[in-house]
Parts: sequence; C-alpha cells; structure tokens
Amino acid sequence: MKSTNKRFITCPFCSLHCDDIEVEINSNKIKVLSEPIKNCTKKIEYFNISDKSNLKPFYKNKSLNYREAIIKSRTLLDKSQDITIVNHGTDVNGVRSILNFATHHNCTVDHINSKYLFKNLGIVQRKGYMATSLTEARNRCDVFLLFGKSILKKSPRLIDKVIFPEQSLCVKPKEKKLILIGEFDKKTIDILAKNYSVRNIKIKINDIPQLMELIQSKSIGKNDNIKAISNIISESKYLVASWSSSDLDVYKNADDVISSISDFILMRNKENRAACMPISGSLADATSSQTMTWLTGYPSRVKFDGSKFIHDRNICDSEFIIENNHTDIVMHISTVGLEKIKLNKKVKNIVIGHPNTTYSSKPDIFIPVGIPGIDHKSILFRTDNVVSLSLDKIRCMNLPSVKNIINDLLMVQD
Ligand code: SF4
Repeated sequence: MKSTNKRFITCPFCSLHCDDIEVEINSNKIKVLSEPIKNCTKKIEYFNISDKSNLKPFYKNKSLNYREAIIKSRTLLDKSQDITIVNHGTDVNGVRSILNFATHHNCTVDHINSKYLFKNLGIVQRKGYMATSLTEARNRCDVFLLFGKSILKKSPRLIDKVIFPEQSLCVKPKEKKLILIGEFDKKTIDILAKNYSVRNIKIKINDIPQLMELIQSKSIGKNDNIKAISNIISESKYLVASWSSSDLDVYKNADDVISSISDFILMRNKENRAACMPISGSLADATSSQTMTWLTGYPSRVKFDGSKFIHDRNICDSEFIIENNHTDIVMHISTVGLEKIKLNKKVKNIVIGHPNTTYSSKPDIFIPVGIPGIDHKSILFRTDNVVSLSLDKIRCMNLPSVKNIINDLLMVQD
C-alpha cells in the first residue's frame, strides 16, 4: 500500500454506510477530503491513531504481547461458569465468530442496542407494518416525516443522501418536503429551512400518538401549522416516516409512539403509497441482527444451551444479566463505537476494542482490534437491511480483526 493516497471509501461509522467519502491516507492517518458534514468528518477522524491510542494488549496494568493476551484471556474464559458476550459493533465475520465461540462455551450473546431493535420488532411481530429502503425513499418519496429530536445528529447525511438528494428518479428534489415532528432544536430547523422546504411541529415525543390521531381524523381545529401539514400529507404521493428508536426510547411510551406512526402509515396506504423507514443505530446494529438471524434464527439475545441457540429477550438481556450477577465474565467487542463502554467491576471484563476505545473503568484484559473497512476488508449491512456493503482495508496498523482474535481464542494452547 502506498504511504500517501487519495481514495473513496465506504464509511463504517453509522448505519447509512455512505460510499462517497473521499479521504487521503498519509502514513496511516486518515484525512477526510470530501466535506459532507462536519459531524461525519469528526467521527471518521476520531479513529486516527494518536498518543492516547492503545495499540498493545494489557492485563490489569501490565502490557502483554498478543499471544500472551490470548492465552491470559483463554485462561480466564476457561475458568468461567457463565460467559456473556456484548457486541458493541462488529462486521459480519465478527458476528459469525462470536456465535461460533458461543457454541463452544455456551455463552449468552447480546448487542448493546438490542433494546432499540426490539422496539421496532415488537410492532412488526404484533401489528401490520410496511417498510421501505433508503433507495426507494430517495427516488420516490415526496413527503418525508422525521420523528424524534437527534436523529440527524446520529445519521447526519440522511438529508443529502436520502431526503433531499441532488438526483432522484421520480421526484424533483425541489418538490420534496420535509416535516420534522418532535423536539428538534431550533438551529437544526433554521439551517435546513434555508435550503429546503421544511415544516416543523414542535411537540413532546410522548404526545406524538395524539398528533397522529388528530391528523388522521382531520378534525384539526384552528391550528394553521398543523392544518397546512395535514394538507401536505393528504396530497403526498409517497410518504415516508422515519425515526431512530434510541431517540424515542427515553420516553415511557416509546412503543406507543412507534405504533402510532406505523398505524398512520398503514392507514395512508389505503389511498396512497406510504412506508416506514426506521434508522438503526451506529454500532453495526443491522449487521448484527441480520447475521444473527441467518445463523441462529433470532435477531439478538441468544444463549447456546449445549445443543442449540435459545432466545429470550428478557433472560438473555446482557444488562439484566450483568446487573444481577448472572455471569462472571463479560467479553465486550467494540470496533466502530465512539461511546464509552460501561463496565461492571463485579465481573471480569475482557474488552476487544479498537485502539481509541474508552471505558468506565479499566478492563481486566484489553486486546486492540482493527476497524472494519479501515484496518481490514469487511461486510456491513445498511440500516434498511437490503444492501450489504463490501468495505476495503485502507491503512496498515497490523491490527487483527474480531474474527482473527476469536479464532485465536478458540485455537490457543498453553
Ligand atoms: S452519515 Fe454515517 S456513514 Fe455517512 S459519512 Fe456520516 S458517519 Fe459515515
């Protein structure tokens, strides 16, 4: 690999996985050249190696070489009565190897964002539900309803990639309309309103179900803004409603909120085309649920019982297991996350993390791992689950992948 080069990459750092990011790699340092959005540049460059990066494994306060770290980890794992693996984001091969490891050690496997996944799945399982893809939304949607408050911070390029793309097959970008419903901050609304047709209903997230009922009943009264928005919705030919469950989950009635949006979309389909498009989290959530479903039949929260994977969304909830001392060792795996990993000091913690991983307290063992699409080739699923993207290696830090590490953990002998 050349020491300096420019190239386009597919970004692994949120579930949109944009494939148009131009970067320059100079002595393994990544500089974003295309400036899609500042948040994205910051996010991508956060993963550059600095003096604070952990490139060496450690056990307690002692540095180890890679083989020693694998042996030490295996010794701890072999002594365990119950192992829990928490996925904080890894690629398809990473999830495959986690499940393979689980079959050898009867582990529980959970993704850190499962609680959000189950919010959406609950609606799919219990009620009717219609969804669309990013591509269809980009090409056909004329009115876009965005619910929540910080979805645009978590998935910054929803605007230019999906809602108001420069090119769209069936709708001229200038004819597209965006309606923000919830607690979006004024700055976000003002910036968007400068360039696009945007309307806003400022409303507490908890009150969204009543609003949806009101718009559906068309007995809106004297509120001109809601009246205008109701008219825009009535005239839409292809309405898309989007949200991120993590945005809504802080409210007691998140299930009701999602359910009311989904019901509204189903109702709209009686007259016109409309669809839901939930946006999954940035920790390779879609990759985890897809891969786990093929391999176990369940999207998350499974335990290998000696002969098969069993699923129970309560019993296999890693947060519950850890808080209630139902495990003695937790293996946290994090390759694309920025957020601090919460460790519980009452159990042993092994962190397989990218070099800039931060944690609430020092883990017993840390093993640095490569970032998919940066340090090794990889496959990741986009939020709408209909596209899997192949990502390239773009720097040479000799960091092993999750698959390498887990295979070594299985194979190692003292
Ligand atoms: S929107 Fe997400 S995938 Fe796209 S560049 Fe930003 S962080 Fe990366």
